[in-house]
Amino acid sequence: MAKKFYKLPDLPYAYNALEPYISEEQLTIHHDKHHKTYVDAANGILKLFDESREKGEDFDIKGKAKELSFNMGGHQLHKLFWENMGPASENGGEPTGKIAEYINDSFGSFERFKKEFSQTAITTEGSGWAVLVFCKSTERLFVLQYEKHNVNLVPRWIPLLVLDVWEHAYYLDYKNVRPDFVEAFWNIVNWDAANMRLENWISSTI
Ligand code: MN
Repeated sequence: MAKKFYKLPDLPYAYNALEPYISEEQLTIHHDKHHKTYVDAANGILKLFDESREKGEDFDIKGKAKELSFNMGGHQLHKLFWENMGPASENGGEPTGKIAEYINDSFGSFERFKKEFSQTAITTEGSGWAVLVFCKSTERLFVLQYEKHNVNLVPRWIPLLVLDVWEHAYYLDYKNVRPDFVEAFWNIVNWDAANMRLENWISSTI
């Protein structure tokens, strides 16, 4: 069987589609440079695994496992991030459907959820993500802070909505003012995509 590798996905919209909230230049660098770096690094590790095993050579098992976790976390989170945004003309505002019901049940109101998610993003130390997850056993939504790409994840709490608050995500547009970027994000959230992920996760038997 031919060995498979990861691929940088195309954005599901044009590079200028999220303006004025995320500029074409910011989005281009973020996707073409930063996201690509994680994909390339993950593939480099897969190649090292393949070559080392073919030659019967050792590699730094602990170090490479850690690097793969970081780069794969970066790849998967960015893919989700692109998918959970869209042009402001068709996105943003309040959610509908099942996710709206769970937001009301879990947080009391959309406004309360928005405040908690925004605060999670704003208070993330250094580089990380604000992440909305669903817990199947309690049927509750939670907001988590992932550090870097891969620290503080909870297995089986599937991310529904993610916001990248690494400086590389907003520095060209907002400089050091992360709260303005977080506020802008609410105009371009693709709630349909988040809702679909929730429904798929609820109906899956995994
Ligand atoms: Mn990023």
